[in-house]
Amino acid sequence: MRCAVLADIHSNLEALSTVFRDIEMKGGVDEVWCLGDIVGYGPEPAECVKLLRKHNPVCVAGNHDLGAIGKLELSLFNPVAAQACVWTAEKLSPEDLQYLEELPQTVEKGDFLLVHGSPASPILEYVASNGIAEKNFSHFEGLYCLVGHTHVPLAYKQEGNKVASIPLSSGIGLVLKKSRIIINPGAVGQPRDGDPRASYAIYDSEGGIFRVYRVEYNVRATQDKMMEAGLPVPLVTRLEVGR
Ligand code: ZN
Repeated sequence: MRCAVLADIHSNLEALSTVFRDIEMKGGVDEVWCLGDIVGYGPEPAECVKLLRKHNPVCVAGNHDLGAIGKLELSLFNPVAAQACVWTAEKLSPEDLQYLEELPQTVEKGDFLLVHGSPASPILEYVASNGIAEKNFSHFEGLYCLVGHTHVPLAYKQEGNKVASIPLSSGIGLVLKKSRIIINPGAVGQPRDGDPRASYAIYDSEGGIFRVYRVEYNVRATQDKMMEAGLPVPLVTRLEVGR
């Protein structure tokens, strides 16, 4: 079985539609898994919910999804993110809001646990260091955990009682074996590792290969839509530098 793993789409329809085209070009997938933050920051929240739902995804909630529906206090966001949350809420239909409202915080799929933040704190914690990853291995039972939230593609592998981080370059396959591992596929709609290209992964259960891909999309088109919408300028400029 082949699964596409998408995280942190952030209302960036240009990036999301480019990723879906790339998936088709690579032969398609049987399932789409989404690790949350479908909305927030970007200019096309409703369009992203609609396109994602066309693919019948298995999806968990992210902090921005909950912020947009009023289930997470805006004081937990930085000022520009909070401003985008308020803007996003106005753009979503009652049906979109209900879809986001009903997203679970965690989902188990075979050997994988899917969360947005971390197994210990599914909505808010960033798995952003070996130490945080190490602590989180005791918060899930299966072999593998998929996380988003940091917007950086990276894996943390448990080896004995140590944790090693593994950078995930585009096209290089990580072979999943019996070692426990926490993997972040990077962000579709707002990468933060210095590479502005959209990031996502395809997992092929045959051979257990998890492969991150980076794809160029029309950053300028997203930026133009954000300026048109009056979204905060720092959110617009960060897209082209991938920070
Ligand atoms: Zn995010």
